[in-house]
Amino acid sequence: MDEIIQASPAEWEALRVVWSLKQASSKEISDILLESQGWKNATTKTLLGRLVKKGYLQTEKDGNRFIYSATVSEQAGANKRADDLFSSICSKAVGTTLVEIIKSKDLSFADRDLILQALEVKDFVETVSCDCVAHDCETCSHN
Ligand SMILES: [Zn+2]
Repeated sequence: MDEIIQASPAEWEALRVVWSLKQASSKEISDILLESQGWKNATTKTLLGRLVKKGYLQTEKDGNRFIYSATVSEQAGANKRADDLFSSICSKAVGTTLVEIIKSKDLSFADRDLILQALEVKDFVETVSCDCVAHDCETCSHN
């Protein structure tokens, strides 16, 4: 899938259930989301319908029920979500935000190696330009 359409936080929650189950009926997904989020079956059904429409999920008929599976890998989904986040903040704030994420999240030694490798081959630029509408954002005035 080239263009992944934005999914809401609730839709991501439903997607995570499908990713962990690989494939599941709407009843299985509803039961889990009822327990973990307290969402009514109708809510989950709506979310699943939207995820199919957006192309994140596909359905297969199995007798009289539908089996859902993801069309996007969990990593591709995570990349998209992170991309959405970083697209919504000033490009000048991306570096410091990445640092905050590294500081606050649990990371393994393998993660550290991946991060160090990525830094080693990364092409850096002298300065990053602000991409805010006014070009006079809070981040800019602090840098
Ligand atoms: Zn800016």
